[in-house]
Amino acid sequence: MAENQLPEAFESQMLALLGPEEFALFKEGLALPSQTSIRLNQRKFAELPYPRRPIPWAKDGYFLEERPSFTMDPTFHAGAYYVQEASSMFISHVLESQKIQKGIYLDLAAAPGGKSTLLSSYLGEEGLLVANEVIASRAQILKENVIKWGLGNAVVTHNDPEHFGPLEGFFDLVLVDAPCSGEGMFRKDPLAREEWSAEHVSLCSARQKRIVDKAGELVKGGGYLLYSTCTFNEKENEEVLRFLIEEFAFEPVRIALDPSWGIVETQVIFEEETFFGYRFFPHKVAGEGFFITVLRRPEGAYSQVAPTTKEFKHHSLKRVGEKEATVLEQEVGGDGTGKFYLLQDAYFRMHGDYSQELEKLAQVLSVRYFGVELGKKHQKEWIPSHEWALSTLPKNGFPQKELSVEEALDFLRKKEQSFAELPMGWVLLTYQKLPLGWIKNLGNRANNYYPKEWRIRN
Ligand code: SAM
Repeated sequence: MAENQLPEAFESQMLALLGPEEFALFKEGLALPSQTSIRLNQRKFAELPYPRRPIPWAKDGYFLEERPSFTMDPTFHAGAYYVQEASSMFISHVLESQKIQKGIYLDLAAAPGGKSTLLSSYLGEEGLLVANEVIASRAQILKENVIKWGLGNAVVTHNDPEHFGPLEGFFDLVLVDAPCSGEGMFRKDPLAREEWSAEHVSLCSARQKRIVDKAGELVKGGGYLLYSTCTFNEKENEEVLRFLIEEFAFEPVRIALDPSWGIVETQVIFEEETFFGYRFFPHKVAGEGFFITVLRRPEGAYSQVAPTTKEFKHHSLKRVGEKEATVLEQEVGGDGTGKFYLLQDAYFRMHGDYSQELEKLAQVLSVRYFGVELGKKHQKEWIPSHEWALSTLPKNGFPQKELSVEEALDFLRKKEQSFAELPMGWVLLTYQKLPLGWIKNLGNRANNYYPKEWRIRN
C-alpha cells in the first residue's frame, strides 16, 4: 500500500461515520505530521530546554515544537517526563474535572505505561495503582517505566484479565485501555494501515467485550470504569460501551469539554438513559485518534475490602518483622509510613496504608514489582538497588555526585569512568539533582551499576 493510501474498507467505514465533507477534512488531518508531547513528573523537576506549550486538557502535559532526541537527554532517563501522545492525556481531565476519589486503581492493559504513570501521579501518596500487562515482554517494559517514574505507589502484575475474578468490587477505578485495531495510529505508524482489516476490527471488538466483561465487575460501588481505545470505528467503541451497560449496572458520566479542544461527544441511549463517549479526530484535535467513555458503578454495588490478617503466608513474599522494619525505615529516611517485605533476599518498601491490599493482590496475582525495591543487605551494609536510586525516597547517608551532561551520558552508556576525588564505596550519581543510578567507587576505577538492559546503545 502506498504510504498515504488508506484501506478501502476503512475509507467506506469513515465515510459512513463522518459524511463526505467531514471525511475529506479527516483525510487531510491524517496527512498532517503528528505532534510530539510529554507529560512532566511533578516529583522529579528538571529544567528542559524544549520550547513547549501546555496541552489544555492535561495537567503537566505539553506539546513540543519539535521532537528532540530524548535518548540524549539524561533527565528523560531519570524519569523527569514521559513521552506520551496528547489525546490519551485526556484521562487527566477526566480525573481532575470529576474529582474522582483516590484509592485503589487498576490499569488492566497497562504496557508500556503511559496511562499508568499518569494515574500514579494523580494518586500520589493517597492511593495504590495496580498496573497489569498480560504479555510478558511488555510487562517488563511496564515495570521499567513504573520504576523510572519512581513514586513507589504501584504494583506491577502480569496476568490475564481472567485471573482477576477474586478481586470483584476491589477497585475505586478500573481503566481498560484496550488492545484495538489502531486506526488512530495511522498517522504516526504507517504499519498500522497495512495491518488493518474489517475482520481485525471485528476480532478486536470481540476481544474487547471479553476484557470488559471481566473488568466491569472489578469496580466497587461508587467507583469508575474508564474504557478507551486508539481507534475510530463504532464496533470497538460505542458497541463495547453498549455491551458494558447491558451487562452491568453503570451510571453515565458526562465530561465537561471546552469547544476549542475539538473533542467530539457521542451518545449511546440505553433504557432511556444517555451514555457518553468522546472521540478525538486528527482534523479536529491536536493529538492522535482516541476514544474514551467514563462510567460509574452505583453506590450500592458490591465492594470488597482487603482483610487485615495477623499472619501473611506467601510462597516467596515475606513480611519483615516490626523491629527490623523500624530500623529500615530510619535507614531509608522514610516518613514512618513504610511497611517492609522480603522477596527472595531483596528488601521492598511499601506505603503502610496499602500493605493489606498488596498482600491480597499477592495472593491472587503474579506480582512483578511493588512499592520500591531497596536492595539487599550484606553484613548490615546495603547493596542499594537501581530501583531505590530512581525512586523519590530519600537516599540518606550516601554521597552524591552531580554530573555534566557528557558524564551523565557516559554513565548511561555504561562506559568506564573514574571518579578519584569521590569517597570509596557507593555513590549516587545525579544530573540536574535527579538520581541516575549508583557507582561503587574503588579508587582507581568505579563499577557502574546502571542496569545493562537499560543502557544507551549508540
Ligand atoms: N495503556 C497503555 C499505555 O498507555 O501505555 C497502552 C495499552 S495498549 C493500547 C493495550 C495493551 O493491552 C497492550 O499492552 C497489549 O499487550 C495488552 N493486551 C493484549 N491482549 C490483551 C488481552 N487479551 N487482555 C488484556 N490486555 C491485552
